[in-house]
Amino acid sequence: MDPVSAINTALTSLRTATDIARLLIGADVSLQTAELKLKLSDMMGALADAKSQIADVKDMVTKKDETIVRLQEALELKGTLIRKDSAYWLPDEQGNFTDGPFCMRCFDVDKITCRLVADTAGPQVKCPNCKTIFFSKPIYDYLRPDVIKAQRQIMQQMDQDINDVKRQLTDLF
Ligand SMILES: [Zn+2]
Repeated sequence: MDPVSAINTALTSLRTATDIARLLIGADVSLQTAELKLKLSDMMGALADAKSQIADVKDMVTKKDETIVRLQEALELKGTLIRKDSAYWLPDEQGNFTDGPFCMRCFDVDKITCRLVADTAGPQVKCPNCKTIFFSKPIYDYLRPDVIKAQRQIMQQMDQDINDVKRQLTDLF
């Protein structure tokens, strides 16, 4: 339900409560106690409905305020974010990335900045929010410099081993 409809429903409940109160005030003095209690009960019910509907409206307005803040922040960021390697990055004045990489889908569609993370199956990266997964060696390397370092060490060791084997073969022949 949108806030305007919720307010209209709350107003209807308040109108019902007011009508009952008006009826009680203008009622004949001979109104029976049982009938009086029934009318008061109806009035309490209508007031409780109105209270609940107004609380719903408050929640809706709070959510809309949060959305407005999120959109304002996204609008401010939109001018500063840089698109590179299928992600958005936040640069400082010198052009160095200070934050990111952010998921392009989440920013473009939902206007939120969600940091991409390295997937267990490298060189894939994924968005924890929208669950988008894609291959990106540059982003994966940026997020997991330890993996790159380990790969370089393995390559150096393999080069060394190959050279050792070559040397041994040369010595043999
Ligand atoms: Zn995303």
